[in-house]
Amino acid sequence: MSLLPGAEPPVIVPVHNLGAGGNTPPFWLPPPRGLGWRHAMFNAFFLGDGHRVSALGSLYAWVDSGAFLFLEAPQRRLAGLHRRRREDGRGGGAPSGWSEDLVEEVLRRQERFGASVAFTLDYPLPPRSQVDPGCCPGTVAERIRLTARAAALAYQLRRRSGIRLLVVLQYNSPEALQRLLATLERELHEHAGMGLGDVDGYAVGGLVPHSAKWWLLAQRLQQARRLLGWGTWIHLLGVASPRNTALLYAAGADSMDSKTYIIAAAKRLYYQPNGAKPARISLREADPSQKPLCTCPGCTRHQTLQEMRHDTQSIALHNLSITLQAAAEARQACTQGELHNLLKNQARSDPRLRKALSHIHEPRPC
Ligand SMILES: [Zn+2]
Repeated sequence: MSLLPGAEPPVIVPVHNLGAGGNTPPFWLPPPRGLGWRHAMFNAFFLGDGHRVSALGSLYAWVDSGAFLFLEAPQRRLAGLHRRRREDGRGGGAPSGWSEDLVEEVLRRQERFGASVAFTLDYPLPPRSQVDPGCCPGTVAERIRLTARAAALAYQLRRRSGIRLLVVLQYNSPEALQRLLATLERELHEHAGMGLGDVDGYAVGGLVPHSAKWWLLAQRLQQARRLLGWGTWIHLLGVASPRNTALLYAAGADSMDSKTYIIAAAKRLYYQPNGAKPARISLREADPSQKPLCTCPGCTRHQTLQEMRHDTQSIALHNLSITLQAAAEARQACTQGELHNLLKNQARSDPRLRKALSHIHEPRPC
């Protein structure tokens, strides 16, 4: 199973976003060369009419819907959409911000940009509902319904058949996921004349506020695998780092986007290779004589770590190269039947990983 040519799980999709604000700084433009990465994650919220992925060279663009920004930050919503909705009365009864127009606008931005992979507009569940299953059942049910509907509409409205549409899943229990899939099946049939088996793949969303709870990430992935099987592509949104890559891959993620490499760089944190502890060192305190530890395109620009601390792009490049190495290591371990041992080794020095492993009951068949 592969979503894109040559995309072997686990695929790391570094968050990029053209320096258009929000989550990546301008120093990332143009994209750095030399790491051999071919994927980048963009956010439809920040894409303007003139943005095209082709301007960045040959990259597979994965474009998130920006649901959180469109729906949870009302002051940022598109003025034009507000006006249209009032005039034609569509979207009545939906929670503030959600509308069929927004579903279409997001999809057109993804298509115009030249996305290879696009994520459907989801309606994020209240973060508390992820850890408190009794929380706000009415809101959860309504958002699950709209998430399924938006996915079916996107399939109906898709103009570029080559674009892979990943259905973003919002759920806080196996029962909720079952409900979501049942609604999706109905809506897909009604709007797009399709069945669940025709879906390109899925993405597990809604976990960013809980990114430090690795056990919860593993549990959600396992719940998705139990219902969807291992033959379907599953992406995990927004929570990957070099230290949990192997775990998330084993639990069920085929691909994952990561922006910790860039956030860490902004804080002058330098990832150590091979998950060595401490996993990150502060360049602010680096020994003036200490040489960079590796031969990535970021490190080779500098003689010492002290010197490197002033060059955020190089630190980000280095951190990205460590992230990609972690994925390659997990992939190789799987091929050699060693994934379980790799995780056991990593868990020795990491209680978060130990706890998360106890939630994996059906590990990835390697
Ligand atoms: Zn390096």
